Amino acid sequence: MFEKNFLKFFLFFIIVNSNVFPKETPYDIGFWDETPKMARVIRGGSTEKKLLALTFDDGPNDSSLLKILELLKEQEIKASFFFIGSYIKKYPEETIKAFDEGHLVLNHTYAHSNFKNSSEDEIFFEISKGNQIIKDVIGKKPKMYRPPYGVVTKSELQALGRLDMNLIGWNVDSRDWSKHETLNSVIEISKGQIKSGSIILMHTQPGKMRTYEALKILIPYLKKEGYTFVKLDELLNMEAYQ
Ligand SMILES: [Zn+2]
Repeated sequence: MFEKNFLKFFLFFIIVNSNVFPKETPYDIGFWDETPKMARVIRGGSTEKKLLALTFDDGPNDSSLLKILELLKEQEIKASFFFIGSYIKKYPEETIKAFDEGHLVLNHTYAHSNFKNSSEDEIFFEISKGNQIIKDVIGKKPKMYRPPYGVVTKSELQALGRLDMNLIGWNVDSRDWSKHETLNSVIEISKGQIKSGSIILMHTQPGKMRTYEALKILIPYLKKEGYTFVKLDELLNMEAYQ
């Protein structure tokens, strides 16, 4: 008899607590859900309209970023910037400037770590830290994330799922990051790959002006070809911030 009552009480305890527990431990998804929510991986937009998204990784900084912002303003183009949290700490004014000029400020981790061998919790912590500093500086928490070195792992997608974020890749790599390319080859590689719905990967790197020089030629060329430049939220028809 005692055992039966104990069992009833025990079952009651589990039922009551199973409703309460998840809300109190939002980060321990595996505890009650065998198939945790994974982030979506997006590499391009719809090919129906001639829309393009320029995306810039590895800022903010005070040299190449400012030149590119100047050019985007001249050309009346809005773009999407994946900023590194620790750099935002160093360049908060440049971060605010990019946001105030109408561009998206999104998450590229806090310390530009390579997550190839990182645990879900480590990744979760670093991306959260990046989100927090962006929120502190511009007042908005991103929903879009780009992985350093293009590394995509299951742990990363699960960490992003817990953060309710999506992973944004690219389908045009301008190779502006490579020392083996020239100004001309960066322009030609981009021209050769760009099509409707493209997400174009570029970088703002301190002291390096090649991306800016390439854009001065590419933007007018692509406009002439009938393309319109939009931010990622418009290209993908999804929210950029939480
Ligand atoms: Zn990067």
